[in-house]
Amino acid sequence: MEKVFMNEPENELENKQQIECIFCKIISGVIPSPHLASNEYAIAIADIAPVAPTHFLILPRAHEENAVALHRSDSQAMAGIFSLVDSLTSRAGISDYRLIFNTGADAGQSVFHAHLHLIAGRPLSWPPG
Ligand code: 5GP
Ligand code: ZN
Repeated sequence: MEKVFMNEPENELENKQQIECIFCKIISGVIPSPHLASNEYAIAIADIAPVAPTHFLILPRAHEENAVALHRSDSQAMAGIFSLVDSLTSRAGISDYRLIFNTGADAGQSVFHAHLHLIAGRPLSWPPG
């Protein structure tokens, strides 16, 4: 039996958000998506619409709206996320990459379950659009 690490919802609204959340569905296996790496705190998957030859998403198992909310609820979770960045980049020999937490709709966030983008495989311009 696979272990499910989703946080216990504290109220009905939180429960509804988790049930409807696409990333919670991927984490629990309701929507299949190969796990490229995982640990107690997070899983890594390939982005469904990659913007570069390498585009991974690192999803904390806990449903929190953004990175700071995640850090506030469990500061160890961020260490778990960076541990997966280490594994993925070391394993694939990736030395040049960009890590992004889009936070808020105006910053490009479209899924309100915290996630870290790991993007690599082509020159990345700066500043971002
Ligand atoms: P955001 O815009 O919130 O920073 O990033 C959300 C990311 O999730 C986007 O890059 C989008 O392509 C990706 N995404 C949305 N739905 C799915 C899905 O069902 N599976 C996967 N693998 N990625 C998804
Ligand atoms: Zn979620």
